[in-house]
Amino acid sequence: MNICVVGTGYVGLVTGCVFSDLGNDVVCVDKNPEKIAMLERGEMPIYEPGLEEMVKRNVEDRRLTFTQDLQSAVAHAEVVFICVGTPPLPSGDPDMTYIQEVAKGIAAALNRYKVIVTKSTVPVGTGNMVREIIETNRRRNVDFDVVSNPEFLREGSAIKDTLEPDRIVIGAPNQVVAMKILELYAPLERPMIITDVASAEMIKYASNAFLATKISFSNSIACICEAVGADVIQVIKGMGLDNRIGSAFLNAGLGYGGSCFPKDSSALARTAEKNGYDFKLLQAVMDVNKEQAVRFMDRLRVEIGGSFKGKTIGILGLAFKPNTDDMRDAKSVEIIGKLLAEGADVKAYDPIAIENTRQIFPQICFTRNAYEAAEETDAVIVVTEWNEFKLLNMERVKSSMKTPLLFDGRNIYDPLKMSRLGFNYHCVGRPSTVATR
Ligand code: NAD
Repeated sequence: MNICVVGTGYVGLVTGCVFSDLGNDVVCVDKNPEKIAMLERGEMPIYEPGLEEMVKRNVEDRRLTFTQDLQSAVAHAEVVFICVGTPPLPSGDPDMTYIQEVAKGIAAALNRYKVIVTKSTVPVGTGNMVREIIETNRRRNVDFDVVSNPEFLREGSAIKDTLEPDRIVIGAPNQVVAMKILELYAPLERPMIITDVASAEMIKYASNAFLATKISFSNSIACICEAVGADVIQVIKGMGLDNRIGSAFLNAGLGYGGSCFPKDSSALARTAEKNGYDFKLLQAVMDVNKEQAVRFMDRLRVEIGGSFKGKTIGILGLAFKPNTDDMRDAKSVEIIGKLLAEGADVKAYDPIAIENTRQIFPQICFTRNAYEAAEETDAVIVVTEWNEFKLLNMERVKSSMKTPLLFDGRNIYDPLKMSRLGFNYHCVGRPSTVATR
């Protein structure tokens, strides 16, 4: 099938690449000339494990091409996937400008029947909006259909998630259109849900809001564990083994970040509000998430002597989660911002996300590895749970620090081991331990 994918970000590039790998002819469009130039040179604008090899293979086999020219890419396609960003506005609503821009572009290029598929995360009603924009702006009276096919991939495992999704959701105006999209996904042999457009749009928001709820619930339990001397990891393990609960996304830590959960939770809360429903539960989920890093930093401030002024803090991990270079709504941004505002010096290390962080904080010191980030510091904070931090030589880390104060925001170390190594160790939802040597 001839496919056009608009937007070559985490979703669009991976979607285009996987569809081409399944044998389709795919043209990926982006309005960012640098991204297209990079892709044409065989360089990836984002970090995603396995992506570069897959792109290379499909480009060489001429099933995958890149362009800035939306008009010709749409004109040649039977199916057009919209994968542009829907970033949050200050109101909490998603910014729909990019979707509207693409819908207008599609309208101008409409030359024969096409199925327009929205993969971006968009509020209920967007399918109708896209339909209206195309109807109003099309130059020829050509028919088309609009489908919602929300994306559930996770950065860091995006290719695997696209090839083996838990479910594929297709929200279509009728069965014939649904079958056309189903045909595209059939080779994956995964469970599919065929529904109406509004329900498909809602499934995405409800899923992300529920996952955010699991995280904030775990963090609330962690706060109580800290107060009563229980261990949240044991508590969560005990909960998660119950099949009705499940262990996924029951993690205590610094809270959720990234380009999806924060913005999708706010967007759903706004949809509820606009439709006269006060979604108190979701508001509490967002409040708990906001407080989590603040509480953690308050504890560090107390331990370090009441003020960050003049202190040097080492940061391990910058990306919003491991295996990605994405810094959108990363907890490190909030934490580093607070440290700088309160007069601390910051040394930071991340295996992949340093260049992206440099754009946000050019003034901080970036190191070549985790050990250098810990050298001569008054405290080290683990912000992202990269695997390479789990097996560090902690003896070496400790001996290079000014003060052996370790704040583990992701619970990756064993409190007893850390105290035996000589750290004053603080984590989330587990008792803190003091150095025993
Ligand atoms: P992104 O910011 O990484 O990529 C979006 C791309 O769209 C950019 O390259 C941008 O240049 C391009 N673009 C914007 N306007 C354009 C236009 N008019 N024409 C052509 N290109 C245009 O975004 P992303 O992370 O891939 O997310 C895309 C959508 O998918 C969002 O709605 C997001 O919520 C959703 N989503 C993201 C993830 C994720 O993990 N990143 C997962 C599921 C769903």
